[in-house]
Amino acid sequence: MADLQTRLEKLGFVIDPVELGGTFAHSTEIAIKEFQQRSGLDVDGIVGENTWRALVESSWTLGDRPLRLSQPFLRGDDVRELQSQLNALGFTAGKHDGIFGLGTAAALRDFQRNLAVDEDGIAGRETLRALERLRMVIKPGLGARITEREARRADPPGLAGKRIVLDPGHGGDDSGGLSPCGQPESDWVFRLSAKLGLLLDGRRAFPMLTRGPNDGPHVSHRAQLANRYGADLLLSIHLNSHPTPIAAGAATYYFQGGTVASEPGEHLAELIQEALIRAGRRDCSTHGKAYPILRETQMPAVVVEPGFITNPDEFAELADSIDDIARNLLEALERYFESEPEQ
Ligand SMILES: [Zn+2]
Repeated sequence: MADLQTRLEKLGFVIDPVELGGTFAHSTEIAIKEFQQRSGLDVDGIVGENTWRALVESSWTLGDRPLRLSQPFLRGDDVRELQSQLNALGFTAGKHDGIFGLGTAAALRDFQRNLAVDEDGIAGRETLRALERLRMVIKPGLGARITEREARRADPPGLAGKRIVLDPGHGGDDSGGLSPCGQPESDWVFRLSAKLGLLLDGRRAFPMLTRGPNDGPHVSHRAQLANRYGADLLLSIHLNSHPTPIAAGAATYYFQGGTVASEPGEHLAELIQEALIRAGRRDCSTHGKAYPILRETQMPAVVVEPGFITNPDEFAELADSIDDIARNLLEALERYFESEPEQ
């Protein structure tokens, strides 16, 4: 009885202090009825099996216990919250039914794989922390979050407060280039972007990704997203491809249409290129291009290709050095915001 009242109180229902400690009277009954109504149960004020089960399930909040696939399936509001967060990030966990079934398990592993968290299928502390941080990064819940970020926005030089849109190329049906052993460009660029997003978030910048791990919005939508977000900078990440497997090296592109080039874009491209070369990548230089993502965005934007996915040796290196490359790019962005020319 006291346990029942504790659970009800935890859910925000008010129990008269004289009833606390296990006396079932008016306020407890009202709380039960309200809970039953809210949960879509028969409103009889009696705590039968269904009501008790619903009450126990409602009492869980995300982080209270490790969530994993088990038999019988775990149920609860913490599972529902996990499903909702995974779905919001583009990892398809199915409907928010609060049951940790196969779909939720698959989505969780997909998330762990992409975020380089131990792929153990358990939503424990480390995974929840990655989820929490990435939730700030990926997929615009634009309205509410912009306002929230507006309030946090700072303007001094440096990364803090800067809105940085990371655009992992391709995605969805479009896998981009393929490595000699069939790994898609879309996966690699997503991992790098997600990693860089976490690093930027750690520096109190406001990173946002243009897509989740599985979707592939049109390039114009990505550009619009960055424009609406009021991004200070957009970094589109790809890998190069060539029929000749020996083609290798890093290249960076800024906007140039005819004789008009983006000066801050070129500056940013040079900083990124320098950072990649310092990290040991071969120099394929910076180039002015009129790619749609560069043309349709209103902020300084570059496309970076740290290497060739079609070169087996280079791609093996790239696959192993996502963390390093993310740090190199972070460094370049940091320098950019410290040295930003007047616009
Ligand atoms: Zn590409």
